Amino acid sequence: MKGKLIIVTAPSGAGKTTIVRHLLNKYDDIAFSVSATSRSKREHEKDGVDYYFLNPSEFRKKIEAGEFLEWEEVYENQYYGTLKSEVQRLWDEGKHIIFDIDVKGAYNIKQAYPDFSLTIFVKPPSPEILFERLRNRGSETPESYRRRVKRATLELQYEDKFDKVLLNDDLDRALKEAEFLVEEFV
Ligand code: 5GP
Repeated sequence: MKGKLIIVTAPSGAGKTTIVRHLLNKYDDIAFSVSATSRSKREHEKDGVDYYFLNPSEFRKKIEAGEFLEWEEVYENQYYGTLKSEVQRLWDEGKHIIFDIDVKGAYNIKQAYPDFSLTIFVKPPSPEILFERLRNRGSETPESYRRRVKRATLELQYEDKFDKVLLNDDLDRALKEAEFLVEEFV
């Protein structure tokens, strides 16, 4: 039997990674879908754990070979995608799978597996708070910060495309609500 798909999406900076990590710590039968990306590795990140880091030409080869379930050029020349082999690997382990991906990717996986996927859109309290969080992240250059704000503004408009909207105004409350949504679904 295939595990279910829990797809957590949001504009960058809305707190979805914190929510995904919490759910992974809490539930042993849920595993993280490690995406592939062509962006450069941040200092604390590990290849094969946070992402499979590929260069843009390796990434494009895999696109051509049909190896992705979905992929997006989230920022110019920065590709992100879910490998079919990754989803299969976690299904073979008998796990439900959690994804931390952008809004278009989330929408596309939902279309591919409408019957056993749940999409959760993490909503920041306000656009201003989201931009402030991005600014305080430390990992962004002024240029990448500008790109992320532009993209986040667009992504905020997608909330009604998803099964559930999770307001991240108070983190403890949001984590409890995320647990509730997952327990109700799996
Ligand atoms: P970051 O560079 O901050 O790790 O991620 C940038 C954006 O790409 C985030 O919104 C993240 O969720 C999204 N992302 C990560 N992996 C994937 C993926 O496999 N597919 C898609 N479509 N987006 C992804």
